[in-house]
Amino acid sequence: MSNVLQLTGQHSDCAAMNTPHKLLVKCAENVVCVCSRGEKWLSGPAMNKISMIERGSVVVGWDGNIEAVGPADDIAQRFPDASCARVIDATGMCVLPGLVDCHTHPVWEGDRVHEFSMKLAGVNYLDIHRAGGGIHYTMQHTRAAKQEQLLHSLRTRLFAMLRAGSTLVECKTGYGLDLDTEIRMLRTIDRARWDDRPAVHVTYCGAHAVPRGYLVSEYTREIVEKHLPTVVRLMHQGEVHVDSVDVFCEQGVFGLEETRTILRAGKHLGLRLNFHGDELHPTGAAELAAELGAHAVSHLEEVSKDGISALVTSGCVAILLPTTAFMLRLKQPPARTMIDTGVIVALGSDFNPNAYCLAMPVVMHLACVNLHFTMAEALVAATINAAHALGCSHRHGSIEQGKRGDLLIVKASRWEHLIYQLGCHADIIPYVVCKGDVLENRCPSYNAAF
Ligand SMILES: [Zn+2]
Repeated sequence: MSNVLQLTGQHSDCAAMNTPHKLLVKCAENVVCVCSRGEKWLSGPAMNKISMIERGSVVVGWDGNIEAVGPADDIAQRFPDASCARVIDATGMCVLPGLVDCHTHPVWEGDRVHEFSMKLAGVNYLDIHRAGGGIHYTMQHTRAAKQEQLLHSLRTRLFAMLRAGSTLVECKTGYGLDLDTEIRMLRTIDRARWDDRPAVHVTYCGAHAVPRGYLVSEYTREIVEKHLPTVVRLMHQGEVHVDSVDVFCEQGVFGLEETRTILRAGKHLGLRLNFHGDELHPTGAAELAAELGAHAVSHLEEVSKDGISALVTSGCVAILLPTTAFMLRLKQPPARTMIDTGVIVALGSDFNPNAYCLAMPVVMHLACVNLHFTMAEALVAATINAAHALGCSHRHGSIEQGKRGDLLIVKASRWEHLIYQLGCHADIIPYVVCKGDVLENRCPSYNAAF
């Protein structure tokens, strides 16, 4: 992939001395800021009132943060081209915040393309899981994989996400299901996150499934008494980094009680709570999320009315995953009801071997077509609200002064083309900007490629 895209903008100290600013993106048809008053999230009707600047420009400093955003004429007076190391003329294009993918499982070996044909033939996910497929299949391959192999796969996937516009990505563990492999996954994420492109939020998901030979009660005890304390000790020693703890709360996997036990233990150890719930059966996961003060709960295809009310009251973010519902032919979550009643709604790709999608623009398209989002709601859910789900909306999710210089440049005079076009994102996203550094599509035409 390195022959398609090239990271530029890592200039020498000499360039930094000669130019006070790292990057100027100027004269865009629209700079879609999403927020302009430091909002941490948007809900209800506010999701359709996103902040935009017509004919605008953005300046990113050498610290990788946004120095200024405003009308092109104002910015031109304050920041002449010669004062910026790199200038992108965005005439005829739109500038958006980098997208945030707040739910992914990107560390694994053992794809499940063979199971996709079984699912197309009508076999359901829990039947595949019980027959030793699903997570167990991927777990065997992940346990057998060397760290270098896991790292190569993870980096390749993160780069694909970045190309499709994601500049902040949540990464879960969960295909080890034993402490050693889960820690190896954490170390792999740590090695992939050092350069911060994309930025990575780490979630410990040792409770992704119950390993063979264990009762759920035994494995729950092991997570609480062994996994979580070890992970936190390694964090304090600076060996790994973890932000959140996750559990796959589902009938036949971790029930409500086991989920409560694990999440309470994680909270006690200082981790944020962000878990899977109400996906295949209504289990009361949304109510539990509110009870425990969870930051986010994902899926919610089967959320109850009481669960929706609990999410509104608690401010817990509902992370919806339209690709999973689409690919597994599940019932879609009641997204319209959630948005209209004021739940803070975010979107994630749920990238995993069971639902192979790395591109947030596809997720946003499906959210509009199948979950009845407006395009503005989909953008909010994939930027500021997704960043809020990860506790990062003070740094990510909008184009505002002081936030990370993460931008997406769309080659169209209306930003909605990002959602309107299904697939082929390299064509419509000529530049992805990460901390002011530019990922550039180097083959703008057929003639240039050959
Ligand atoms: Zn998931």
